[in-house]
This record gives sequence, C-alpha cells and structure tokens, in this order.
Amino acid sequence: MSATSTEITTAELTSGVRVPFIGLGTWPLTGEDAATAVHQAISNGYRHIDTAENYGSEAAVGEGIRRSGIDPGDLFLTTKFNTQWHSRRGVRDAFGGAVKRLGTDYLDLFLVHWPNPTQGRFVEACEELQELVEDGSIRAWGVSNFKPAHLQAVQNAGLRVPLNQVQVDPEHGQSAQLAYHREHGIVTAAYSPLGRNGSFLKQAAVRGPARELGKTPAQIVLRWHVQHGRVAVPKSADNQRQRENLDVFSFALTRQHMAAIDALETGAPPRLDSDTYFH
Ligand code: NAP
Repeated sequence: MSATSTEITTAELTSGVRVPFIGLGTWPLTGEDAATAVHQAISNGYRHIDTAENYGSEAAVGEGIRRSGIDPGDLFLTTKFNTQWHSRRGVRDAFGGAVKRLGTDYLDLFLVHWPNPTQGRFVEACEELQELVEDGSIRAWGVSNFKPAHLQAVQNAGLRVPLNQVQVDPEHGQSAQLAYHREHGIVTAAYSPLGRNGSFLKQAAVRGPARELGKTPAQIVLRWHVQHGRVAVPKSADNQRQRENLDVFSFALTRQHMAAIDALETGAPPRLDSDTYFH
C-alpha cells in the first residue's frame, strides 16, 4: 500500500473503514492539558485522536472533543485497553468503561494495547473485538505492539487483523515486522513517529528535503510515513507544531528522498519488548 498521491488523507482497513493518516497522539497529556490540546487539534483540522485507558486521559480527551463542538461522526476516535480485560466478558467491560470515560456511545477503533503472551488470552480479546464490530459498538478493531507470532496466533483463529500500532521511525524501521503487515494486508499505525523529537530530525536525509521543499524536518518524516502508507499519531500540545504535523498532504517526497530516509534505519528493536512488557 502506498500514498503517492498527495491528496490521499486516509488509509483503508480490510473492512473498508478509512482511518485518517495523521492522528493526534495524546500521551503523556492528562487533565486540562489533554482537553486543551484535543480541542485545539480539532480546531486545527485534526479528525483522528489517539488515546488509551492506560494514559489516564480518556475523560479529558472526551472533554476536549465536546468543547470543540464537532459532530462525533466527523471524528475518528481510537482508544486501547489494558491486558486485565483479555477475556470475552472483559473486552465488553473495557468497551463500557472506555465509552463512559470518553462520553461517547461508540468507538471508531478499539485496540488491544499489548499482547501479554504469558497471560495468553489476547486471541480471545480479538475474537470479542470482532463481535463488537458485528454488533455496531465499534467501527473497527486492531492491536498494538503485536509481533508477527502474536498476529499469526490471531490469524490462526480465523480472524483478519485490520491494523497494528507499533513503534516506527526512520531509525526504527522494523523491516521484518512491516513486511509481515504488508503480506497480510494489516495497516501499520506508527507510534512515536517522530522518535520523540529524535536526533534523526537533524540528519541530512531529513534536513535536505526540508530545505528543498520549504518544510520542517518533522513534516518530512511524517510525509515519509504517509507516503509509505502508514498512519502516524504524532503528539504535540503546541498549536504551531500541531498544524505543521497535519500539513503533509500538499507535497511529496521523491523516490531518492524516500530511499535516503529509509537508509537511516539502525536495525534497533522497539524500546519495549512486547513478549515481556505489558500493562
Ligand atoms: P512522538 O509523537 O514521536 O514525539 C512527541 C514529541 O515530539 C513531543 O515532545 C513533542 O513536543 C515533539 N514534537 C511534536 N511535533 C513536533 C514537531 N513538529 N517538531 C519538533 N518536535 C515535535 O512520540 P510519542 O508521544 O511517544 O508518540 C506519539 C503518540 O503515540 C503518543 O502520544 C501516543 O498517543 C501513542 N503511543 C502509543 C504507544 C503504544 O504502545 N501503542 C506507545 C507510545 C506512544 P510538543 O508537544 O512540545 O510539540
């Protein structure tokens, strides 16, 4: 999947649901900071917000959405649940808790935040997520931090995984992981897409096209994600940076620009190992 046309602003899941390529990341914002950032982002044109039970910010995110006055049908809202809910009944309870905190009555995308393979109940969680789609409670489901072995276990139960949110940036290209996604039609959503203001933003492969195209280094990296067909959820609480992070659909990188950014890959694994880390 690729997004070579500058005008394509959404990625399509296997179910046909479309996800805006750029979403607002909300971790580590909480309380009034989160509500203000979400309200401001929606005013700045964001139509996709990413939160999680574990961030402790769902109520504040819901407050920001209400303040904006936007019709919930015009917004794509993603949240994620913790591993304590990995059972058929538990996922229903996780959904009930999330919509209550957010003040909505449905979710656009509900993600298993971490697989917790030692507990070994993530397949059951995915099966119940599929039921939530079928009864109209959520528009789409997905997973986060699932390695190919975890995805394979879900697929062995007869489910198609629509989306996996994983850590990707130019230095953490996760080539085997993303090849698996491509092979199985799984949309990749990149978290920490700017490497938390990573040092690669200063590399010539990023600064060169930024100068050439009159864009910022962050815009070049976000365009690189989008042009590879990846959703990205950069976090910014700053009005100007929020605007620039969303403004990546009016220009394109050349094949040479893309290859030079791809070459920043270090082969480093993600910060956290999802075989052992979870919450
Ligand atoms: P990130 O989005 O790569 O980086 C955020 C940092 O970069 C902030 O310090 C922000 O500061 C700065 N920044 C944002 N835009 C910038 C720009 N245009 N120029 C320069 N600096 C900029 O990292 P992240 O927060 O780790 O990841 C983003 C989101 O992914 C999170 O908020 C969360 O929603 C999600 N996430 C998911 C998981 C998971 O397990 N699924 C794990 C981690 C994160 P300012 O706010 O000051 O602009």
